[in-house]
Amino acid sequence: MTQRVIPLADERQLRQLPAIPAELPAPTGQLLDSRGRPIKDLRISVTDRCNFRCVYCMPKAVFDKDYAFLPRESLLSFEEITRLARLFAAHGVTKIRLTGGEPLLRRNLEKLIAQLVEIPDMEVTLTTNGVLLPKKAAALKAAGLKRVTVSLDSLDDAVFRAMNDMDVPVSDVLKGIEAAEAAGLGPIKINMVVKRGLNDQEILPMARRFRGSGHILRFIEFMDVGSSNGWRMDDVVPSAEVVQRIHEAFPLEQIDPNYTGEVAERWRYADGGGEIGVISSVTQAFCSTCTRARLSTEGRLYTCLFAQSGHDLRALMRAQRSDAELSAVIGQIWSGRSDRYSEIRSAETASLRKIEMSYIGG
Ligand code: SAM
Repeated sequence: MTQRVIPLADERQLRQLPAIPAELPAPTGQLLDSRGRPIKDLRISVTDRCNFRCVYCMPKAVFDKDYAFLPRESLLSFEEITRLARLFAAHGVTKIRLTGGEPLLRRNLEKLIAQLVEIPDMEVTLTTNGVLLPKKAAALKAAGLKRVTVSLDSLDDAVFRAMNDMDVPVSDVLKGIEAAEAAGLGPIKINMVVKRGLNDQEILPMARRFRGSGHILRFIEFMDVGSSNGWRMDDVVPSAEVVQRIHEAFPLEQIDPNYTGEVAERWRYADGGGEIGVISSVTQAFCSTCTRARLSTEGRLYTCLFAQSGHDLRALMRAQRSDAELSAVIGQIWSGRSDRYSEIRSAETASLRKIEMSYIGG
């Protein structure tokens, strides 16, 4: 049998230090990139490991028992993460999302949350597959977490088990959602990645299930992140089609975004059954309003989800560089940012070697 070999963009061995600017300007809280976009959100991957092997994200063919996940000492410590988070806050970041991999696999995550919520005016959120929420929700809430986003791609057990490829039943995730609700971690957002032919028949059942629940269901277009998920445009179900399919069963009307740069387009049920969101990263790129930076599990800064390389902030911290130096490096990187991958996506760009989502943080 021939084996499929998938080249992964793996920067983990490259440890080139980012240049430290000669001048160390104090942060103004209003850092802009080269296209005038402020830095507002920081997504932090706290682990590259996951208890799922979603076929579109961490396929078993690549992330198998021989896959070299990062060793413990490579991960940013909670103190390192908090130090960087404070520096980003001084540049204008007001929202942190903890992600991964599966963030709830990181031991004592609540301790990190307790440190991050101490940063003035910082909103801290978390994206999880939900399975560990029954064990963790109360501790997360007590640590100061306000809300969670739970990923769930289907209500059909056979479809869901095939998608997570670890035989996890839907009921485990639903129990997680209930635990989050009971702990007061709402309103809960539920993210469904839609891949044509795999789970698009689940759009309506999901809409029906979460209508009137107080949870906000959001449909995400299948993206060409990383290099291992075999992405093809034909697999993308455009958000417009998702909205149309739901609208035919439950009439929808569009509503205003909560704030400029919100990634999800909002729609509400005309009969008052709550709202849904659609995230159209492929068919309606939102690069022009993208205010997100990403910190990988081992402390590389990426200025785009589709980046091919990052900037090694961990190396600077472990080389005993000062806060002023680190802050100036962050400022320099963001002000040079010109990424707009989704606006220029094509079959050619889709096959570029990009960083895996589990490492960079989804
Ligand atoms: N393990 C956590 C979870 O399941 O939510 C956090 C990490 S996961 C990478 C974050 C989100 O990215 C999930 O909602 C997942 O479905 C989504 N995702 C992963 N690969 C994707 C892709 N190729 N296109 C669109 N969304 C994707």
